[in-house]
Amino acid sequence: MRIILLGPPGAGKGTQAERLVKKYNLPHISTGDIFRAAIKAGTELGKQAKEYMDRGELVPDDLVVSIVKARLTEPDTAGGYLLDGFPRTKAQAEALDASLQELNTPLTGVINIDVAQEELLERLTGRRVCRGCGATYHIKFNPSTVRSVCDKCGGELYQRDDDTIETVKQRLEVYHRQTEPLIAYYQQQGILHSVDGAQEIDEVFQEIVQFLDKFVNS
Ligand code: ADP
Ligand code: ADP
Ligand code: ZN
Repeated sequence: MRIILLGPPGAGKGTQAERLVKKYNLPHISTGDIFRAAIKAGTELGKQAKEYMDRGELVPDDLVVSIVKARLTEPDTAGGYLLDGFPRTKAQAEALDASLQELNTPLTGVINIDVAQEELLERLTGRRVCRGCGATYHIKFNPSTVRSVCDKCGGELYQRDDDTIETVKQRLEVYHRQTEPLIAYYQQQGILHSVDGAQEIDEVFQEIVQFLDKFVNS
């Protein structure tokens, strides 16, 4: 299965991806995670990306596209993958289409996680992430058992630099302007499947699974 998770910041893409890649045994390709890892490692890519991320802007298309293209040629993607947070612009979607056409590996489906704007603000400002394993929590909606400690690996939970109210507002604006048009883009291709992301985490998961189970072995 070659799947894209689409949706605004805070929709629950990372949360669902964590569960889906376990269930279907797929590599999880998150461009946000790739950039955060590069920042942590102090690479040139990290330096470039950080400038944009701190402002709540998108990293330039050419940079993102070349990273994803390279990632999709790695052997672990041969049996499929889950793309989380990519594509985020029409130019990225078109570059991905061209690349997949060349590889003769069409997308299986695009899952759009739909959540109202008011809810996103609270989700993002309350988000906490594990420094150890990257697991995602929420101080109110999905708290860890022990405060600031990851249930899965015991790592420390932190708040992302870009999860402040000001940057979140900017990211939501960028989403509406640059990413939301992709809903129509994939609808036209006949591969979009929207789920109601306002439900409980487990309910959203079940809805996605119901859709994806049709494609197991494809
Ligand atoms: P995204 O990757 O789309 O930005 P995340 O998966 O990081 O979103 O989720 C954003 C925040 O919302 C996290 O703190 C997460 O724990 C919380 N969250 C995710 N899904 C739900 C849900 N269905 N209901 C309530 N909170 C959720
Ligand atoms: P979110 O919770 O907003 O979905 P991500 O972790 O996916 O967050 O992305 C964090 C930041 O990384 C974005 O605000 C953007 O600056 C950068 N980024 C991630 N993916 C892309 C992409 N496909 N194109 C451009 N910038 C990206
Ligand atoms: Zn952890």
